[in-house]
Amino acid sequence: NTVAHGLSKDTIERFSRQIILPSFGVACHSKLHNGSVLVVGAGGLGSPALLYLAAAGVGRIGIVDRDAVELSNIHRQVIHSEASVGTHKTASAKAALLALNSATEIEEHRDGFTPANAVELVKRYDVVLDASDNAPTRYLISDACCVAGRPLVSGAAIGTDGQLTVYHHGDDGPCYRCLYPTPPPAASCARCADAGVLGPVPGIIGTMQALEVIKILSGIGDVFSKKMLVMDALYCRYMVVKLRGRTEGCAACGADPEREITEESLPGFDYNAFTGQAPSDAPTSLHLVDDAERIRVSELSARLDAGAGRRPNTFLLDVRPAHQFDICSIPGAFNVPMSPSFVDDIDRIKERMREGGYEDVAVICRRGNQSQRALLALKAAGLEDAVDVIGGMAAWSREVDASCPIY
Ligand code: ZN
Repeated sequence: NTVAHGLSKDTIERFSRQIILPSFGVACHSKLHNGSVLVVGAGGLGSPALLYLAAAGVGRIGIVDRDAVELSNIHRQVIHSEASVGTHKTASAKAALLALNSATEIEEHRDGFTPANAVELVKRYDVVLDASDNAPTRYLISDACCVAGRPLVSGAAIGTDGQLTVYHHGDDGPCYRCLYPTPPPAASCARCADAGVLGPVPGIIGTMQALEVIKILSGIGDVFSKKMLVMDALYCRYMVVKLRGRTEGCAACGADPEREITEESLPGFDYNAFTGQAPSDAPTSLHLVDDAERIRVSELSARLDAGAGRRPNTFLLDVRPAHQFDICSIPGAFNVPMSPSFVDDIDRIKERMREGGYEDVAVICRRGNQSQRALLALKAAGLEDAVDVIGGMAAWSREVDASCPIY
């Protein structure tokens, strides 16, 4: 039994609180009902965005994610639950969304968002919501939206900071490349897995992204285009920065048919090489020092266990930040955090070794990356008998002491 705009009586009743809003009404709800959105990432930003979009009655929602739910996701990725740990994120999200609104059409895309499938995926939806967490994917999503002619609602959250803007909207809204034609150095791009994040920060930004999608689909209000929200949640600073319009010669959205990014060229563009980063959230493994200068955690354990009442010869240097050292540490370890001024601390380390009569030093960190950098600095300062501990505290926890949490 259809009422106005092809909506059923049940639909009108269910969504009556937004339909009776004078600025929204039945016509706008009908546009949501017939609209579609692609959400790239079912994580910290995607979780609240997906929940609000399904709850609001968006007709069709695509979810892109390759990962499974981990226990350490849930403090911010509120669409998932303890029961869904180990299951695929798209499946977990789909179940939550259907529980919320069984009339929503949910499409899972488990192969991720790649140069090969990006444009085809984007073309199937009216709006795209970027809830990804890495530079290669950000450029790829923006480029695909330019090529496919779709607006892009972009959000970012790290630590206690958040950002929101809408790219490639209207006649002159800039795209991501208009603003950042060259990527920032890889080292300046922190990820939640490395930098940490407070859950409500992506919660706020993801919810605002859902709001922008609803406004774009329904056609109400002003869209967050040509401006960016910059949020510093820790010190309560919420600024809106004005952005310039579209860049004339932009490689992705410029008018030149010979521009670098086109539907034909995009699948062959190397986003990892362009940004100097890998798209996966998996921790990268550095290999800066020779294997001969590295030991496994089992050998470290043997070196530290010198027998009852005896002091080991190996001095254990832990170079993690102090707040991580507080989470768990190996008894006897000496904490000197790796920092740009680490070389200034080496005299203090040598002094400590001399006092204790230690002969050699083993360096450990969270996962075995920073410890290699520290090792190079120690060797350069004359500590020849120094070794790196492969895999860091994470390996120690897996192989030696399971009571040590992996974080
Ligand atoms: Zn552009």
